Formats: sequence, C-alpha cells, structure tokens
Amino acid sequence: MSNLSYIAQNHGPWSTYLEQIERVTPYLEHLKGYIDTLKRPKRALIVDVPIVMDDGTIQHFEGYRVQHNLSRGPGKGGIRYHPDVDLNEVMALSAWMTIKTAVLNLPFGGAKGGVRVDPRKLSPRELERITRRYTSEISHIIGPQKDIPAPDVGTNPNVMGWIMDTYSSGQGHTVTGVVTGKPIHLGGSLGRIKATGRGVFVTGREVAEKIKLPLKGAKIAVQGFGNVGSEAAYLFAESQSLIVAIQDHTGTIFNPEGIDLAELKIYFETNQGVAGFEGAEMISDEDFWNVEIDILIPAALEGQITIERAQKLTAKLVLEGANGPTYPEADDILIQRGVTVVPDVICNAGGVTVSYFEWVQDMSSYFWSEEEINQRLDKLMVQAINDVWHTSNEKICSLRTAAFILGCERILKARMERGIFPG
Ligand code: GLU
Repeated sequence: MSNLSYIAQNHGPWSTYLEQIERVTPYLEHLKGYIDTLKRPKRALIVDVPIVMDDGTIQHFEGYRVQHNLSRGPGKGGIRYHPDVDLNEVMALSAWMTIKTAVLNLPFGGAKGGVRVDPRKLSPRELERITRRYTSEISHIIGPQKDIPAPDVGTNPNVMGWIMDTYSSGQGHTVTGVVTGKPIHLGGSLGRIKATGRGVFVTGREVAEKIKLPLKGAKIAVQGFGNVGSEAAYLFAESQSLIVAIQDHTGTIFNPEGIDLAELKIYFETNQGVAGFEGAEMISDEDFWNVEIDILIPAALEGQITIERAQKLTAKLVLEGANGPTYPEADDILIQRGVTVVPDVICNAGGVTVSYFEWVQDMSSYFWSEEEINQRLDKLMVQAINDVWHTSNEKICSLRTAAFILGCERILKARMERGIFPG
C-alpha cells in the first residue's frame, strides 16, 4: 500500500469526515467563522454497561452516545451493536447524521450511539439486558425533544422496543417518541424497516436517469445483505436490473445471469448468510471488487472503497447505502474515472426520513398508511437529490461535496442565527 493510501486508510472514520469538511470549506466562505463547530462533537458520553450473562458471570461492555450537533433540533441517529464500535467511529457516524438530516431538511441535529459487542454472540436475554442497561446509562441525555435513537447495524425493532420501555419506566409513563424504528404496535411506523433500502433505490433511480444508465439489464453488486442491501436489491430487481454479486459476512456469491432473490431469501432465512447458496458460485471476497457491473451498492460498513479497489471498480454508479464506505482519496479516483457516487448523506437518508415521520406520528398519535409514507418519502428524497444534483452542476463539484454544501449551509446558518452563548 502506498504511503498516501496508508495515511488515508488508517486514521478511522472521523478523519474521513474531517477531510470531507476540509473539501467543502472553500464553498462556505460566507460562513467561515462557524465552520469549526462541525469539527467537534457537542457532547460525547462513554458509559460502562455491566450485565449478568446467562452463565451467571458479570461482563462489562463499553457504550457511547455522541451528540454531534443540535443547532437545528434534537439529536437523531441510530445505535450500533458491533465488536468494532469505538469513539472515533461513533463520532463520525454522529457527524454524518448532522449532515444527513440537514441535507433532507429534517428538523433534527445529528447523534449516534453504540455498544462494543458482537450481538450474534449474545442470547436474546443477554441482548435485552445489555440494551436496558445501556439505555438506562444514557437516559439523561436522550428524549423526544433531546435526542432520538433508532436502529443501525446490529440492532432492530425489538431492541428499539426495549429502549422505549426502559426510558418510559424511568419517566413513569409511555414515551413512544423517544426512539424510532420501533415495532408497529409500539408506535412504530409502517414502511420504516424498508425505508433505507427504498431511499437507496429512489436516489439511485433518479441519478441513473440523469446519467442515462438504464436500470433494465443493469448489472449490480451489493455488499451487505441486511436491512439496507436486501431491500435495495429487491427494488432494483423489480426494475429488471440483475443482481450479479452479493457479499455479506459469510462470503461472496456471484451469478452473471442475475441471482434469484426470491430463492436467496428462503435460503438466507435458514442459513443467516449468503454463503453456500446454490443459485450462484462462491468467489473470493476480494474478487467482489473486480466483477463486471454497472452499479455498486456498498451497504455494509465504512471504509470499504479503498484507493486500490476504486482503481479497479467497473461500476459507473456507486450508491452508498452504508455510512462512510468510501475513503476521500478513493473518492478522488472515482471522480477521475468518471464514476458517479451518490453519497451516504443522501443515498441512505430514507431511514432517518421515515424515522422523522415516525416521530411526527408518535407526537400526534395519528398513524399514516404505508402508501402515504412511501409517497412522502419518495417526494422528499427526489427533491433532495435534485437539489444536490443542481448544486453539483452549479458549483462543478462532486455530489458528495454538493450535499455537504447544502447540509453545512443549513447547519451553520442555524448556528449563526442562534448566536454564540453567552454572546
Ligand atoms: N441508523 C440510520 C442511519 O444511519 C437511521 C438513523 C435514524 O433513523 O435516526 O441513517
């Protein structure tokens, strides 16, 4: 690995985010005095989460909740359970939430939480205990008007239900609006589970049309077959695209004729992974990046598109379903090579957009139909991607920088208009 790529790829996601802020700074001359507010989180909490394991031993886990920016409203962002979670990662993820909510013009700031744990190694009871203890430790900084968690990698609606219940127990009454992504009968919203994948599809569809890439017959590779990757794959397959490669934590499968997703779904449910699926051949994880494709959907973790992978990628369009999948120097290579990248801060914003709808529904105790939710989601995402596209043409910059210009302007204007206390 070259020295440059070593530097870019070994300082964690927070340095990727800081580099993205450096790149947008020349476009924000008029708000220059306020830029530093984006370079540090407003508040970061690290908590010890001790739980009694099923075998009677006590184990300690490290938990975090970072509120990056609250200038435009309460903090908003998911909670990640993963063995690699650390402060650097949670800070970056919280900052990307700040930008994301601003790009979509949702009335929220950005926050993120996480616990450094492998949820696959926990029993259901241990998962519940860790969730309840973690919630109790962060309960003084969350709330429907303060900071509203949601699902992320390794968490799901059940976990959100326990968060809601634990927080509510402390308040003495049910507070559904403290968390989004809840089960439907606990104040959750229809359409929330599929919303992130749907948003990836909607933004991808719009940009594919702009760059004249027909979806029919387009070859697509998807990294990650969780909530985001699988739903995006289904929607593209409905538009007659071919899903030719899928990678998850169990391995990489490839079928140049297109993988049968209905069959894969059945296989996935019993095997908890794509490896070994009979309707495709297994290839090495690194070969995933060499496959002949039109569209790449990274929908797993950050730091996947390295300089080396960007150099050999055959895709014309990259849809960032994951947060932070592309290193800044890899971004440069993709730009040079004429690859269009729809950045995470808009591409995967469908989830937080329907989270916003869930929060609004909880506040009014009035629930909308799935059709209405999907229509509103489509409308907001189309509007946002058109604004980003227009800004990128006007300023002659990448879609990422354009999204950051729009988002950062909204955040910094709010900061400026509020003023700096105590003045
Ligand atoms: N974790 C998701 C994200 O990264 C959703 C956040 C939310 O719904 O608040 O955007």
